[in-house]
Amino acid sequence: PFDVLVVGGGPAGASAAIYSARKGIRTGIVADRFGGQVNDTLSIENIIGTKATEGPKFVASLEAHVADYEIDVMKSQRAARIEKKDLIEVELENGAVLKSKTVILSTGARYRQLGVKGEAEFKNKGVAYCPHCDGPLFKGKDVAVVGGGNSGVEAAIDLAGIVNHVTVLQAMDELRADQVLQDRLRSLPNVTVITDALTSEVTGDSTVNGLSYVDRVSGEEKHIELDGVFVQIGLLPNTEFLKDSVELNKHGEIIVDRNGKTNIPGVFAAGDCTDSAHKQIIISMGAGATASLSAFDHIIRSVEL
Ligand code: FAD
Repeated sequence: PFDVLVVGGGPAGASAAIYSARKGIRTGIVADRFGGQVNDTLSIENIIGTKATEGPKFVASLEAHVADYEIDVMKSQRAARIEKKDLIEVELENGAVLKSKTVILSTGARYRQLGVKGEAEFKNKGVAYCPHCDGPLFKGKDVAVVGGGNSGVEAAIDLAGIVNHVTVLQAMDELRADQVLQDRLRSLPNVTVITDALTSEVTGDSTVNGLSYVDRVSGEEKHIELDGVFVQIGLLPNTEFLKDSVELNKHGEIIVDRNGKTNIPGVFAAGDCTDSAHKQIIISMGAGATASLSAFDHIIRSVEL
């Protein structure tokens, strides 16, 4: 069995695995997509000590750092179930069962989908989720940002510097972003904000040509002509497979204490899949280190192991 089995290979998982391997204990990582969300990030300027890097470049250096240690890396594998017996068992979607004294869950998060007609059909044909990655593709064009929270308003401010015009659609009657972001947004000449707008369809032929929404005040359906739609309605934690085993909050985030402990002894969690206040690379890495040191502490205190 493993001493520490890390589920998830993003910044949190890579950090947890390296910290564990440095203790000389048997460490494994199961990761669906090594690097996690960082793969989808273009420029990163807030990893302290690294002035600027790019997502894929940073993932390559994470992978090289992990490869420097005796870590059993199982890529393109998804965990389907976790159960505490004498050891903790992690069953993969392919049916294999891995056993470990401790497990660190670091399965991250993904963008929430609108779930309207046209969204899936036009994904990467005008429907985008990552302004940092796809913003430049819409240079000089008209786009919408769906979502009036911090991520939506940040995306709109970002895109306004690249594209011709940005329409922000917010389903509620007001934006939910921090006031400073709203003030910045409203100071921009090429941004329109539409509130009470319930997106009903992404339209297009070979690529996106517009978006329909229902005006929640009048009940009328309206259509705007656009070249792109950025969906910014939140991040969903990748924790569905844990709902019958690990305690989650109402957002589906794993509830952890300040040591990264979950409700199951020997099971720890770190990063965007947890109820941490902020979701960032450096924060996930710190949480991964915390969870790893807590797992080590658990191992040396467990007489039965
Ligand atoms: P993730 O990066 O989400 O990694 C999760 C890992 O778990 C992946 O390997 C995934 O494949 C795996 N996984 C999921 N489910 C399973 C399963 N069932 N079984 C096995 N493996 C599984 N942060 C910054 O600090 N600076 C930035 O500039 C920045 N820009 C961003 C731009 C974009 C477009 C996005 C999407 C995010 C950005 N972030 C940025 C946020 C940052 O990427 C995340 O906070 C960080 O990646 C979280 O790390 P994580 O390891 O917790 O999760």
